[in-house]
Amino acid sequence: IKTIGVLTSGGDAPGMNAAVRAVVRTGLHKGFRMIGIQRGYNGLLNGECFEMNLRSVSNIISAGGTILYTARCLEFKTKEGQDKGAEKCRELGIDALVVIGGDGSYRGARALAHRGIPMIGLPGTIDNDIGCTDYTIGYDTAMNTALEMIDKLRDTTQSHDRCSVVEVMGRNAGYIALNVAIASGAMAVLLPEKEFDMQRDILDKIAETQKTGKRHFIIIVAEGVGHAQEIANEIQARTGIDSRATILGHVQRGGSPTLRDRVNASAMGYQAVCLLEQGKYNRIVGMKGEKLVDYPVDEALEMTKSLDPVLVDVCNTISI
Ligand code: ADP
Repeated sequence: IKTIGVLTSGGDAPGMNAAVRAVVRTGLHKGFRMIGIQRGYNGLLNGECFEMNLRSVSNIISAGGTILYTARCLEFKTKEGQDKGAEKCRELGIDALVVIGGDGSYRGARALAHRGIPMIGLPGTIDNDIGCTDYTIGYDTAMNTALEMIDKLRDTTQSHDRCSVVEVMGRNAGYIALNVAIASGAMAVLLPEKEFDMQRDILDKIAETQKTGKRHFIIIVAEGVGHAQEIANEIQARTGIDSRATILGHVQRGGSPTLRDRVNASAMGYQAVCLLEQGKYNRIVGMKGEKLVDYPVDEALEMTKSLDPVLVDVCNTISI
Protein backbone atom coordinates (compact mmCIF):
# COMPACT_ATOMS: atom_id res chain seq x y z
CA ILE A 1 0.00 0.00 0.00
CA LYS A 2 1.34 3.39 -1.00
CA THR A 3 -1.76 5.57 -1.10
CA ILE A 4 -4.64 5.68 1.38
CA GLY A 5 -8.00 7.31 0.68
CA VAL A 6 -10.19 8.63 3.48
CA LEU A 7 -13.88 9.46 3.37
CA THR A 8 -16.78 10.20 5.70
CA SER A 9 -20.12 8.57 4.94
CA GLY A 10 -23.65 8.32 6.33
CA GLY A 11 -24.80 10.91 8.88
CA ASP A 12 -22.23 13.47 9.98
CA ALA A 13 -21.03 13.62 13.57
CA PRO A 14 -18.86 16.00 15.60
CA GLY A 15 -15.35 14.58 15.81
CA MET A 16 -15.27 13.25 12.25
CA ASN A 17 -12.80 16.04 11.47
CA ALA A 18 -10.57 15.01 14.33
CA ALA A 19 -10.59 11.47 12.90
CA VAL A 20 -9.79 12.68 9.37
CA ARG A 21 -6.97 14.80 10.77
CA ALA A 22 -5.51 11.84 12.66
CA VAL A 23 -5.76 9.52 9.65
CA VAL A 24 -4.08 12.06 7.36
CA ARG A 25 -1.31 13.03 9.76
CA THR A 26 -0.54 9.46 10.84
CA GLY A 27 -0.54 8.38 7.21
CA LEU A 28 1.85 11.13 6.17
CA HIS A 29 4.06 10.41 9.20
CA LYS A 30 4.34 6.80 8.08
CA GLY A 31 5.16 7.76 4.51
CA PHE A 32 1.84 7.10 2.79
CA ARG A 33 0.32 9.38 0.20
CA MET A 34 -3.08 10.57 1.45
CA ILE A 35 -6.16 11.29 -0.65
CA GLY A 36 -9.32 12.91 0.71
CA ILE A 37 -12.53 11.79 -0.98
CA GLN A 38 -15.48 14.18 -0.74
CA ARG A 39 -19.14 13.29 -0.21
CA GLY A 40 -18.71 9.63 0.65
CA TYR A 41 -19.17 7.01 -2.05
CA ASN A 42 -20.83 9.61 -4.27
CA GLY A 43 -17.57 11.50 -4.40
CA LEU A 44 -15.63 8.33 -5.07
CA LEU A 45 -17.81 7.48 -8.06
CA ASN A 46 -17.49 11.07 -9.33
CA GLY A 47 -13.76 11.28 -8.64
CA GLU A 48 -14.24 14.19 -6.20
CA CYS A 49 -10.94 13.89 -4.39
CA PHE A 50 -7.75 15.75 -3.61
CA GLU A 51 -4.31 15.01 -2.26
CA MET A 52 -3.97 15.96 1.41
CA ASN A 53 -0.89 17.32 3.16
CA LEU A 54 -0.22 18.23 6.79
CA ARG A 55 -1.85 21.63 6.32
CA SER A 56 -5.00 20.21 4.66
CA VAL A 57 -6.19 19.30 8.13
CA SER A 58 -5.09 22.43 10.00
CA ASN A 59 -7.64 24.15 12.22
CA ILE A 60 -10.25 21.42 11.96
CA ILE A 61 -9.91 19.56 15.25
CA SER A 62 -12.40 21.87 16.97
CA ALA A 63 -14.87 22.03 14.07
CA GLY A 64 -18.09 20.04 13.92
CA GLY A 65 -19.36 18.55 10.67
CA THR A 66 -16.88 17.04 8.23
CA ILE A 67 -14.54 18.95 5.91
CA LEU A 68 -14.82 15.99 3.53
CA TYR A 69 -18.62 16.40 3.42
CA THR A 70 -20.82 13.35 3.58
CA ALA A 71 -23.60 11.97 1.44
CA ARG A 72 -25.70 8.92 0.91
CA CYS A 73 -25.16 7.06 -2.34
CA LEU A 74 -27.80 4.64 -3.56
CA GLU A 75 -25.77 3.63 -6.59
CA PHE A 76 -23.14 2.18 -4.28
CA LYS A 77 -25.58 -0.42 -3.03
CA THR A 78 -25.62 -1.98 -6.50
CA LYS A 79 -23.03 -4.39 -7.91
CA GLU A 80 -22.45 -2.02 -10.83
CA GLY A 81 -21.81 0.89 -8.43
CA GLN A 82 -19.38 -1.17 -6.41
CA ASP A 83 -17.53 -2.37 -9.53
CA LYS A 84 -17.26 1.24 -10.63
CA GLY A 85 -16.04 2.25 -7.14
CA ALA A 86 -13.20 -0.29 -7.22
CA GLU A 87 -12.29 0.79 -10.75
CA LYS A 88 -12.25 4.44 -9.61
CA CYS A 89 -9.92 3.60 -6.71
CA ARG A 90 -7.50 2.00 -9.18
CA GLU A 91 -7.81 4.96 -11.54
CA LEU A 92 -7.11 7.40 -8.69
CA GLY A 93 -4.23 5.28 -7.37
CA ILE A 94 -6.00 4.58 -4.06
CA ASP A 95 -4.68 1.29 -2.62
CA ALA A 96 -6.71 1.25 0.62
CA LEU A 97 -9.60 3.13 2.14
CA VAL A 98 -10.39 4.44 5.63
CA VAL A 99 -14.14 4.93 5.97
CA ILE A 100 -15.62 6.92 8.84
CA GLY A 101 -19.32 6.13 9.23
CA GLY A 102 -21.72 3.44 10.37
CA ASP A 103 -22.68 -0.11 9.43
CA GLY A 104 -24.00 0.92 6.01
CA SER A 105 -20.71 2.60 5.20
CA TYR A 106 -18.80 -0.54 6.30
CA ARG A 107 -20.94 -2.66 3.98
CA GLY A 108 -19.97 -0.36 1.14
CA ALA A 109 -16.28 -0.57 2.04
CA ARG A 110 -16.50 -4.34 2.40
CA ALA A 111 -17.81 -4.51 -1.15
CA LEU A 112 -14.64 -2.70 -2.24
CA ALA A 113 -12.51 -5.05 -0.13
CA HIS A 114 -14.05 -7.96 -2.05
CA ARG A 115 -12.80 -6.21 -5.17
CA GLY A 116 -9.23 -5.93 -3.88
CA ILE A 117 -9.25 -2.54 -2.11
CA PRO A 118 -8.49 -3.11 1.59
CA MET A 119 -10.50 -1.07 4.07
CA ILE A 120 -10.58 0.02 7.69
CA GLY A 121 -13.80 1.36 9.24
CA LEU A 122 -14.06 3.89 12.06
CA PRO A 123 -17.32 4.36 13.98
CA GLY A 124 -18.74 7.81 13.24
CA THR A 125 -22.31 8.45 14.37
CA ILE A 126 -23.95 10.36 17.18
CA ASP A 127 -26.36 7.47 17.74
CA ASN A 128 -23.83 5.02 19.24
CA ASP A 129 -25.69 2.26 17.40
CA ILE A 130 -22.71 0.24 16.19
CA GLY A 131 -22.53 -3.24 17.71
CA CYS A 132 -18.77 -3.73 17.84
CA THR A 133 -17.94 -0.65 19.90
CA ASP A 134 -19.01 0.85 23.21
CA TYR A 135 -18.44 4.32 21.84
CA THR A 136 -18.85 6.10 18.51
CA ILE A 137 -17.35 9.40 17.35
CA GLY A 138 -19.85 12.22 17.95
CA TYR A 139 -21.91 10.44 20.60
CA ASP A 140 -20.39 12.33 23.51
CA THR A 141 -20.80 15.73 21.88
CA ALA A 142 -24.40 15.01 20.87
CA MET A 143 -25.28 14.00 24.43
CA ASN A 144 -23.70 17.11 25.85
CA THR A 145 -25.49 19.31 23.33
CA ALA A 146 -28.83 17.71 24.19
CA LEU A 147 -28.10 18.03 27.89
CA GLU A 148 -27.27 21.71 27.62
CA MET A 149 -30.57 22.38 25.88
CA ILE A 150 -32.60 20.31 28.32
CA ASP A 151 -31.01 22.23 31.20
CA LYS A 152 -32.31 25.42 29.60
CA LEU A 153 -35.73 23.85 29.14
CA ARG A 154 -35.79 22.85 32.79
CA ASP A 155 -35.62 26.51 33.85
CA THR A 156 -38.71 27.50 31.94
CA THR A 157 -40.54 24.22 32.58
CA GLN A 158 -40.09 24.77 36.29
CA SER A 159 -41.08 28.45 36.25
CA HIS A 160 -44.42 27.59 34.65
CA ASP A 161 -45.14 24.28 36.41
CA ARG A 162 -45.21 22.62 33.02
CA CYS A 163 -44.45 19.24 31.54
CA SER A 164 -41.79 19.14 28.82
CA VAL A 165 -41.64 16.16 26.50
CA VAL A 166 -38.24 16.27 24.82
CA GLU A 167 -37.37 14.14 21.82
CA VAL A 168 -33.67 13.39 21.42
CA MET A 169 -31.91 11.69 18.50
CA GLY A 170 -30.48 8.18 18.38
CA ARG A 171 -32.39 6.49 15.56
CA ASN A 172 -33.54 3.11 16.86
CA ALA A 173 -31.19 3.13 19.84
CA GLY A 174 -31.82 4.65 23.26
CA TYR A 175 -28.22 5.41 24.26
CA ILE A 176 -28.51 9.18 23.96
CA ALA A 177 -31.97 9.19 25.56
CA LEU A 178 -31.00 7.07 28.57
CA ASN A 179 -27.80 8.96 29.38
CA VAL A 180 -29.35 12.36 28.83
CA ALA A 181 -32.35 11.39 30.98
CA ILE A 182 -30.07 10.50 33.87
CA ALA A 183 -27.87 13.56 33.44
CA SER A 184 -30.75 16.02 33.08
CA GLY A 185 -32.70 14.58 35.99
CA ALA A 186 -35.71 13.76 33.85
CA MET A 187 -38.77 12.21 35.46
CA ALA A 188 -39.13 9.50 32.83
CA VAL A 189 -37.50 8.21 29.67
CA LEU A 190 -39.11 6.34 26.81
CA LEU A 191 -36.64 4.03 25.07
CA PRO A 192 -37.04 2.10 21.81
CA GLU A 193 -35.58 -0.96 23.55
CA LYS A 194 -38.37 -1.07 26.13
CA GLU A 195 -42.09 -1.26 25.55
CA PHE A 196 -43.88 1.63 27.15
CA ASP A 197 -47.30 2.02 28.64
CA MET A 198 -48.72 5.55 28.82
CA GLN A 199 -50.72 4.87 31.95
CA ARG A 200 -48.07 3.01 33.93
CA ASP A 201 -44.91 4.78 32.78
CA ILE A 202 -46.13 8.36 32.51
CA LEU A 203 -49.55 9.12 33.98
CA ASP A 204 -49.24 7.01 37.15
CA LYS A 205 -45.72 8.32 37.66
CA ILE A 206 -46.85 11.93 37.33
CA ALA A 207 -49.64 11.30 39.85
CA GLU A 208 -47.24 9.61 42.25
CA THR A 209 -44.67 12.41 42.10
CA GLN A 210 -47.37 15.07 42.40
CA LYS A 211 -48.23 13.56 45.80
CA THR A 212 -44.66 14.31 46.92
CA GLY A 213 -44.99 17.93 45.79
CA LYS A 214 -43.49 17.77 42.30
CA ARG A 215 -45.03 20.34 39.96
CA HIS A 216 -42.91 20.22 36.81
CA PHE A 217 -41.98 17.22 34.70
CA ILE A 218 -39.34 16.47 32.11
CA ILE A 219 -39.86 13.41 29.96
CA ILE A 220 -37.22 12.29 27.47
CA VAL A 221 -38.44 10.45 24.39
CA ALA A 222 -35.97 8.65 22.13
CA GLU A 223 -36.28 9.35 18.41
CA GLY A 224 -37.04 5.65 17.85
CA VAL A 225 -40.14 6.00 20.04
CA GLY A 226 -41.13 9.36 18.56
CA HIS A 227 -44.55 11.02 18.80
CA ALA A 228 -43.39 13.66 21.32
CA GLN A 229 -46.20 16.03 20.36
CA GLU A 230 -48.88 13.34 20.71
CA ILE A 231 -47.47 12.26 24.05
CA ALA A 232 -47.52 15.88 25.27
CA ASN A 233 -51.09 16.31 24.01
CA GLU A 234 -52.21 13.19 25.80
CA ILE A 235 -50.54 14.20 29.07
CA GLN A 236 -52.24 17.58 28.90
CA ALA A 237 -55.63 16.04 28.08
CA ARG A 238 -55.43 13.42 30.81
CA THR A 239 -53.80 15.47 33.63
CA GLY A 240 -54.56 19.10 32.84
CA ILE A 241 -50.84 19.93 33.17
CA ASP A 242 -49.67 22.44 30.56
CA SER A 243 -47.48 20.20 28.38
CA ARG A 244 -45.10 21.09 25.57
CA ALA A 245 -43.16 18.99 23.10
CA THR A 246 -39.65 19.98 22.09
CA ILE A 247 -37.90 18.08 19.33
CA LEU A 248 -34.22 18.92 19.57
CA GLY A 249 -33.48 17.59 16.08
CA HIS A 250 -30.34 18.18 14.06
CA VAL A 251 -28.74 20.70 16.40
CA GLN A 252 -27.55 17.54 18.15
CA ARG A 253 -25.47 16.65 15.10
CA GLY A 254 -23.47 19.86 15.11
CA GLY A 255 -21.11 21.82 17.28
CA SER A 256 -17.52 21.68 18.39
CA PRO A 257 -16.62 18.15 19.54
CA THR A 258 -16.00 17.46 23.22
CA LEU A 259 -12.58 16.48 24.50
CA ARG A 260 -13.65 12.84 24.64
CA ASP A 261 -14.77 12.83 21.01
CA ARG A 262 -11.58 14.55 19.88
CA VAL A 263 -9.27 12.24 21.79
CA ASN A 264 -11.06 9.03 20.81
CA ALA A 265 -11.39 10.11 17.18
CA SER A 266 -7.68 10.94 17.12
CA ALA A 267 -6.72 7.58 18.64
CA MET A 268 -8.99 5.64 16.28
CA GLY A 269 -7.75 7.55 13.24
CA TYR A 270 -4.18 6.76 14.24
CA GLN A 271 -5.07 3.10 14.79
CA ALA A 272 -6.69 2.82 11.34
CA VAL A 273 -3.41 3.70 9.64
CA CYS A 274 -1.36 1.49 12.01
CA LEU A 275 -3.54 -1.50 11.06
CA LEU A 276 -3.05 -0.84 7.35
CA GLU A 277 0.69 -0.47 7.89
CA GLN A 278 0.75 -3.84 9.69
CA GLY A 279 -1.15 -5.49 6.87
CA LYS A 280 -4.22 -6.01 9.07
CA TYR A 281 -6.87 -5.28 6.50
CA ASN A 282 -10.65 -5.16 6.44
CA ARG A 283 -11.25 -4.41 10.09
CA ILE A 284 -13.44 -2.08 12.12
CA VAL A 285 -11.86 -0.09 14.94
CA GLY A 286 -13.86 0.47 18.09
CA MET A 287 -13.53 0.88 21.83
CA LYS A 288 -14.19 -1.54 24.65
CA GLY A 289 -14.32 0.67 27.71
CA GLU A 290 -11.31 2.97 27.33
CA LYS A 291 -9.33 0.55 25.16
CA LEU A 292 -9.02 0.50 21.38
CA VAL A 293 -10.14 -2.76 19.78
CA ASP A 294 -10.59 -3.96 16.22
CA TYR A 295 -12.54 -6.78 14.60
CA PRO A 296 -12.77 -8.27 11.11
CA VAL A 297 -15.48 -6.41 9.23
CA ASP A 298 -17.68 -9.53 8.79
CA GLU A 299 -17.58 -10.20 12.52
CA ALA A 300 -18.12 -6.53 13.39
CA LEU A 301 -21.25 -6.35 11.24
CA GLU A 302 -22.71 -9.35 13.10
CA MET A 303 -22.07 -7.94 16.58
CA THR A 304 -24.86 -6.49 18.68
CA LYS A 305 -24.94 -4.63 21.96
CA SER A 306 -27.64 -3.44 24.31
CA LEU A 307 -28.31 -0.78 26.90
CA ASP A 308 -26.62 -1.31 30.24
CA PRO A 309 -29.41 -2.69 32.49
CA VAL A 310 -27.75 -1.11 35.52
CA LEU A 311 -28.00 2.34 33.93
CA VAL A 312 -31.65 1.69 33.08
CA ASP A 313 -32.25 0.81 36.71
CA VAL A 314 -30.32 3.88 37.89
CA CYS A 315 -32.58 6.01 35.73
CA ASN A 316 -35.79 4.36 36.90
CA THR A 317 -34.80 4.50 40.54
CA ILE A 318 -33.74 8.10 40.86
CA SER A 319 -36.00 9.78 38.31
CA ILE A 320 -38.90 10.42 40.54
P1 ADP B 1 -24.28 4.60 8.07
O1 ADP B 1 -22.94 4.40 7.48
O2 ADP B 1 -24.28 5.65 9.12
O3 ADP B 1 -24.91 3.30 8.54
P2 ADP B 1 -26.02 4.59 5.71
O4 ADP B 1 -26.71 3.32 6.08
O5 ADP B 1 -26.81 5.71 5.13
O6 ADP B 1 -25.24 5.23 6.95
O7 ADP B 1 -24.88 4.19 4.67
C1 ADP B 1 -24.04 5.17 4.09
C2 ADP B 1 -23.74 4.81 2.66
O8 ADP B 1 -23.07 3.54 2.62
C3 ADP B 1 -24.97 4.60 1.78
O9 ADP B 1 -25.46 5.81 1.24
C4 ADP B 1 -24.43 3.71 0.69
O10 ADP B 1 -23.71 4.45 -0.27
C5 ADP B 1 -23.44 2.83 1.45
N1 ADP B 1 -24.11 1.57 1.82
C6 ADP B 1 -25.05 1.38 2.76
N2 ADP B 1 -25.46 0.09 2.82
C7 ADP B 1 -24.75 -0.55 1.86
C8 ADP B 1 -24.71 -1.91 1.39
N3 ADP B 1 -25.49 -2.86 1.92
N4 ADP B 1 -23.85 -2.21 0.39
C9 ADP B 1 -23.06 -1.24 -0.14
N5 ADP B 1 -23.05 0.05 0.24
C10 ADP B 1 -23.88 0.39 1.22
